[in-house]
Amino acid sequence: MADLSLQHIHKQYDNKGLEVVKDFNLDIKNGEFIVFVGPSGCGKSTTLRMIAGLEDITSGKLLINGQEMNNVLPKNRDIAMVFQNYALYPHMSVFDNIAFGLKIKRLPRKEIRSKVEEAANILGLEQFLKRKPKALSGGQRQRVALGRAIVRDASIFLMDEPLSNLDAKLRVQMRAEIIKLHNRLKTTTIYVTHDQTEALTMADRIVILNNGEIMQVGTPKEVYNYPNNLFVAQFIGSPP
Ligand code: ADP
Ligand code: MG
Repeated sequence: MADLSLQHIHKQYDNKGLEVVKDFNLDIKNGEFIVFVGPSGCGKSTTLRMIAGLEDITSGKLLINGQEMNNVLPKNRDIAMVFQNYALYPHMSVFDNIAFGLKIKRLPRKEIRSKVEEAANILGLEQFLKRKPKALSGGQRQRVALGRAIVRDASIFLMDEPLSNLDAKLRVQMRAEIIKLHNRLKTTTIYVTHDQTEALTMADRIVILNNGEIMQVGTPKEVYNYPNNLFVAQFIGSPP
């Protein structure tokens, strides 16, 4: 369970002054499914990585459940992240890939087994636990990556374009699966995509970004029917 507050967040990668995230302000409620959407290079991944603690925040404050997180190490944040390239270990079985984070935490073996089996059950991976990633389809690999996030019982999921390596048909199917998963676990989620259809079909609220700035925040209906500006209207494809 977690809510997040991003307050006046800025990011510069170098001291040349180019700000790739500019005055990002957003409050996220516990259990929300938030989608960051915008064109390539607009700062989606940078913002997500700052929340995960994988990038420093140049200025501004990140609060989780009211606690300032700016200087908290990634491993001490109650966050699980899912990446576009799955980041699976090729030499490990599906079971070991899902269990990896739990083994590092030195959880008892029995507990690891029951958590992995529960996640596999949710994701329909029961028959694949002994396989290596290369013997799986793209959709199955992405489920393994989701499984690895689920077993950690984190309060926040961060997903960076998790479906963009999948073909169109599978992408549509996996969108529905991720939403089903969300409805079951109710984990606060920030999901990043450059695909406006994905954003409109999945989000409780959409955050539309361009050039490091928030253009609009709202429900899919709000941003579609009442775009704040021309950029939003064109990007979302609202009727003129
Ligand atoms: P998005 O995920 O929306 O495509 P990014 O957050 O990856 O955008 O990138 C935002 C901007 O920051 C881009 O201009 C990109 O080139 C720049 N950028 C991203 N990562 C780095 C980095 N490690 N060092 C310098 N610039 C970076
Ligand atoms: Mg990105």
